[in-house]
Amino acid sequence: ETINDLLDRLSEIVPDYPSAGISFKDLTPVFADPQGLRRIVDEIIAPFAGKFDVIAGLEARGFVLAAAAAYATGTGMITIRKAGKLPRAVHRDDYTLEYGTGTLELHRDDIAPGTRVLILDDVLATGGTVGSAARLLGMAGAQVVGIGVVLELQELGGREKLEGLEVHSLQLV
Ligand code: IMP
Repeated sequence: ETINDLLDRLSEIVPDYPSAGISFKDLTPVFADPQGLRRIVDEIIAPFAGKFDVIAGLEARGFVLAAAAAYATGTGMITIRKAGKLPRAVHRDDYTLEYGTGTLELHRDDIAPGTRVLILDDVLATGGTVGSAARLLGMAGAQVVGIGVVLELQELGGREKLEGLEVHSLQLV
C-alpha cells in the first residue's frame, strides 16, 4: 500500500469544522492505527535521515509525531507550545492565523545553539504555525534543517511562506 492510499483509507474529512466552509482533515484515525502510525513516522523522517540532532514537535498533534520519531531515531524531542504552558523562561513569537493571531513559546534553555532541528507537525496550511516555530528556534540559535508534515494543503500557499526551508509532506491535498 502506498502512503497516499494509506492516508486516503485512514484519514477523515470533516465538513464545516471548526467553522462553516472549512473542510478539516482529521489524522487521528491514522495515529490510532498500528500500521498507520508506524508508516507516517518512518516516512516523515526518511528524507532527513542523519541531518538532525533533535526533533521539535508543535502542540498538540505534532507532539505525537515528534515523540515517536525521536524515539525511533534515538534523538530527543523539543516541545514548542501555545502561550502560557511552559513554566520557565521562554522565547515567544506571535504569528498570524487565517482569522486572528496565535503565540508559540519555546523554553530558552531546552536547546543549545547550533543544534540541528527537524520540525514536525500534522498539517501545513498557511505556514503560519511552522514559520513561527522556525523563528523561535532561530531565536535560540538552533539550525532548522527541515520541516516534515503529513498533509500539505497546497492552495493555502504555506510552502511559499517558508522560503529557504526544506519542506517535505507525505501527501498533497
Ligand atoms: P497553518 O499555521 O495555517 O499552516 O495551520 C497549521 C496548523 O493548524 C497545524 O498546527 C495544524 O495542526 C492545524 N490545522 C490547520 N488545518 C488543519 C486541518 O485541516 N486538519 C488538522 N489540522 C489543521
